[in-house]
Amino acid sequence: MIDIALMGIGKIALDQHVPAIAASPDFTLAATVSRHGSVPGAPGFTDIDSLLAAHDGIRVLSLCLPPVPRFDAAARAIRAGRHVMLEKPPGATLAECHALRRLAEAHRVCLFATWHSREADKVAAAKTWLADKRLRSLRVTWKEDVRRWHPGQDWIWEPGGMGVFDPGINALSIVTEILAHDIHLTSATLDVPENRQTPIGAELAFYHPEGAEVSAVFEWRQEGDQTWEIVAETDAGTLKLSDGGARLTVDGAAAPALDDDNPLSGEYPRLYAKMARLLARGGIDMDLRPMVHVSDALALGHRRRVAPFVE
Ligand code: NAP
Repeated sequence: MIDIALMGIGKIALDQHVPAIAASPDFTLAATVSRHGSVPGAPGFTDIDSLLAAHDGIRVLSLCLPPVPRFDAAARAIRAGRHVMLEKPPGATLAECHALRRLAEAHRVCLFATWHSREADKVAAAKTWLADKRLRSLRVTWKEDVRRWHPGQDWIWEPGGMGVFDPGINALSIVTEILAHDIHLTSATLDVPENRQTPIGAELAFYHPEGAEVSAVFEWRQEGDQTWEIVAETDAGTLKLSDGGARLTVDGAAAPALDDDNPLSGEYPRLYAKMARLLARGGIDMDLRPMVHVSDALALGHRRRVAPFVE
């Protein structure tokens, strides 16, 4: 068993990381770092330097902070010779992701930039099915209610918080995983509330080297039914990934789902199993393609000012 510390004891740490570590055959939660949060049974530190100074035996840190404060924590951990696992997105900017990679290489530690949605149950099957098909179009529809999923999270509205790209990047992590070809953004429209810094809605279009129409809509004003869906039309049928990658149909026929009550329950256990394998072989696992698309959208996007968002 490998001792691991969790930093940033917020929603995702408590919902997913703590149970995944508790069930892991590889890791033991040995400490937490958080200004306000704690996990029963794990010694708590309020800053990372105290943890690093106190615990030489904790070789791995899993960082669940929002993207902006995460770089400083990751850099401190790596400089102290610790292996690091990053929540998505891997940074607030691409440059800081590259800087972390160089730092990890220099200090010979493992760095894992996780994409939890890639571990959704049906993503690997979708990739396999698409591999020998010719893509005609791919449409991402990621529509959710920000009030329901991100209550009280002011950081998502601040520069670097990414707004609707915070969930949207999950869709892009799946798209970049399942498509056989690399795509790149050609245009974007971003709806930015008058009183906020980051988009509440976005429409994206991409270039595909074989001419397929690839597009995405990300929406945070969706009340009622929530949709996390990717539809790919090919020369040999239509594939639909829904519920964030947990369900798959081909021409309407459903592949069996593993666990109907909680179809996304395998994501974080698989991430920790991957981290254990990375530690065993050494190295860096950091695919920045989803982040490139978001950076490109923020660079190329046509901004529309929309009604203020009040929580
Ligand atoms: P959250 O509930 O707001 O928690 C983030 C934690 O980070 C806070 O509890 C806070 O803990 C700590 N923190 C340290 N410095 C901070 C700062 N300057 N501003 C805000 N928080 C700071 O956020 P979350 O939903 O867990 O998301 C964290 C990361 O996980 C994000 O990158 C997000 O994209 C990713 N993620 C979230 C979800 C989800 O469903 N929520 C799903 C997958 C991935 P202390 O104040 O106690 O230090």
